[in-house]
Amino acid sequence: NPLQGAQFVLAAHRINQLPKDEGAEVAFAGRSNAGKSSALNALTGQKGLARTSKTPGRTQQMVAFSLPPIVLGEALPLLEARLIDLPGYGYAKVPDALREHWRHEIDRYLHQRHSLRGVVLIVDIRHPLKEFDRMMLNFCLDTELACHVLLTKADKLSRSQASQALASLRKELDTGAPVTVQIFSSSAGTGVEEARSAVRQLLVG
Ligand code: GDP
Repeated sequence: NPLQGAQFVLAAHRINQLPKDEGAEVAFAGRSNAGKSSALNALTGQKGLARTSKTPGRTQQMVAFSLPPIVLGEALPLLEARLIDLPGYGYAKVPDALREHWRHEIDRYLHQRHSLRGVVLIVDIRHPLKEFDRMMLNFCLDTELACHVLLTKADKLSRSQASQALASLRKELDTGAPVTVQIFSSSAGTGVEEARSAVRQLLVG
């Protein structure tokens, strides 16, 4: 597993509290309850890494996890690598001012963070592309940032329904932007290897 050995580094309320902007990082974004924490835990192979319990306080933070440094080649320096868990979006009880704060911080983060190599967008396969997802995809388009969409909770659909959802989203996103989409399920383990490779590719690519 290329994402093995992830460790909690810190939780931040603003982007200037994040670790030094060096090396490479991949950010995880998604609507609250989409299954982002479960996906992070499945991908890193660490059940308790990201909290899956739904306390709004806990979701309203950016959380940085370090990965073991990546060996790029014999004569090359090691690449420092991180995963960033962005705050879950769309939690009904979050006051408007806080929602606006995070919209602004996420916008700044995506536009200004040099070490950011790509975004993993977690989308419930039964509810593809809500307003937040479109906003994230637009931010990525704006900044020419690669985006990998995990259509998660695929275990909630039949195989053919899941394939249909995948095909229709791929068609919708076929705009020449660097967006890839796959089927995923943290519970069933579907697409975990594929997603790990995609994250690794974002980090080194
Ligand atoms: P987050 O708010 O995006 O971090 O979402 P969580 O990872 O905490 O998951 C929200 C809820 O969805 C929890 O009850 C999880 O058990 C459930 N969940 C997450 N991933 C899956 C999945 O792949 N399949 C199913 N059936 N449930 C899932």
